[in-house]
Amino acid sequence: MARAKVVCTLGPASDDRDTIVDLAEAGMAVARLNASHGTTDHRETVIERVRAASDALKTPVATMLDVPGPEVRTAPLDAPVELPTGAERRLVPGGTVDDEVVGVSHSLAAAEPGDRVLLDDGRIETTVRRVDGESVLVRVDSGGELGGRKGVNVPGVDLGLTFITEGDRAELRLAAEHDVEYVAASFVGSAADVYAIDEVLESFGADVPIVAKIERAEAVENIEEILSAADGVMVARGDLGVECPLEEVPLVQKRIIRKARDAGLPVITATEMLDSMVHERRPTRAEASDVANAVLDGTDAVMLSGETAVGDHPVRVVETMARIVGDVEASEEYAESREQRVPPAGDTRTDAIARSARYLARDVDASAVVTVTESGYTAQKVAKYRPAVPVVAVTPDERVQRRLTLPWGITPRHLPFGDGGATELIERAATAAIDAGVAESGDTVVVLAGMMTDLEGANTTNTLKVHLAAEVIASGRGVNAGRAAGPVVHAPDGDIGDAPEGAVVVLPERFEGHLEGDLSRVAAIVAGDRGMTSYPAMVARELGVPMVGGVTPTVDAGTVVTVDGDRGVVYESDIDQR
Ligand code: PEP
Repeated sequence: MARAKVVCTLGPASDDRDTIVDLAEAGMAVARLNASHGTTDHRETVIERVRAASDALKTPVATMLDVPGPEVRTAPLDAPVELPTGAERRLVPGGTVDDEVVGVSHSLAAAEPGDRVLLDDGRIETTVRRVDGESVLVRVDSGGELGGRKGVNVPGVDLGLTFITEGDRAELRLAAEHDVEYVAASFVGSAADVYAIDEVLESFGADVPIVAKIERAEAVENIEEILSAADGVMVARGDLGVECPLEEVPLVQKRIIRKARDAGLPVITATEMLDSMVHERRPTRAEASDVANAVLDGTDAVMLSGETAVGDHPVRVVETMARIVGDVEASEEYAESREQRVPPAGDTRTDAIARSARYLARDVDASAVVTVTESGYTAQKVAKYRPAVPVVAVTPDERVQRRLTLPWGITPRHLPFGDGGATELIERAATAAIDAGVAESGDTVVVLAGMMTDLEGANTTNTLKVHLAAEVIASGRGVNAGRAAGPVVHAPDGDIGDAPEGAVVVLPERFEGHLEGDLSRVAAIVAGDRGMTSYPAMVARELGVPMVGGVTPTVDAGTVVTVDGDRGVVYESDIDQR
């Protein structure tokens, strides 16, 4: 079960329904739609496809709409053009690209002679020679092939761009109307920028978590306030490596990951992770190491961009990434770094309990931490402390379930709370760990329940419980206390002559006969009648064996079950023997 998640950028190579299904099966947790490309209408279709694929597979997949923000791009092109080293070009707003001019989406007139203008994530480097009105003459210092709509960066120069463009508003409306799980905000510089995006989303009546992309020097400086305003961050290394000196990127990545984890917010490490796989079938050693190191740093997620959006084998690249992540997570080095980097207890009660859950799970040798969570808050707190075992988050809200695909270590499950009260909910939540494949019947799990304010039964907010997870066959009334396991013997007419030693005798509803045979062989009784004065209840008391009433489980004779007379539950198999 992967702890670090995989975010895939969808594009022409991957946004058809079949490929989306294949990507989800290969390990895609979050589908990113990059609004720098394509049309808003097409994105709407893709959002619907992701939802449909997720429903069909019964695997939650979140959608993250990445809004371009104040970016400058080169003009669209049908085919790439060559920009030779030493050549001069005029960068002019518009759509022209020829031997003299490269069209750009916004005026660069604020630049001055000597400023650097970088194209295509810095692959092509130029220096400003002269500015004539809107036309900026540059010399190509390091040339190359330029494709259409490639990013343009002028580090350290305020180009006077509007932070939220009309195009962004249209994308934010789409995000709001379709209740996408995350909006990624590009080029934020401060908390105020995050709030500005939030305000637009609110004006459309939506509350969408915002992932702030850290890709400007100013954002790196203001990381603390951005973390206090955003719901997650992305180390957007493409622009970061152009806006800041490239050699600073590795350490900035490590620092942001640590700060985000200490703040309990998901952090995505992005860009060029397996870049050579856009065309190649195998990554370079350096790329494999890059993914592994991000996972060792403790990132919540690793992201694929061009590799899945326009690459030659998008599914293979996700499989490759998932394998690298899985291998690292199985290593001693990973376990060591996880143990050494547990954040200090935060200042909320949920923080204290979530941190305790982490150590409690280790000390009682639990198979999983199960969190009952309405908004996802409690689950994220548990993930913050990076327990060694899987975190299963059960939530009644399908959107929260999809959101929880992003944070580290969480396996989100949908579970309507029902009206059975807190005890029953905790029971069902623990069973969800079995359904999720991370615990077996009879395993110990640590259950952390938060915010169950609507449930009767109590002050259950912030409950921490060591619990036995077991597959429930039937739930009824605990008529006589105790727990025993044994093979089922159906005795519709009371004949238990053939019952083996330690039998669990199952009697039908309105049983009117008497048990005939060796009663010392009876280890437990399960009866259709739930009354405390019924004949089966009296026999159970007299024999001193556990009994559950009000249920008639349809299990085959001879099947071993456990009867828990305290809880009123019949479990699959002998849960004390596992
Ligand atoms: C980046 O710059 O690294 C990034 C993820 O943003 P975009 O893909 O929008 O350039």
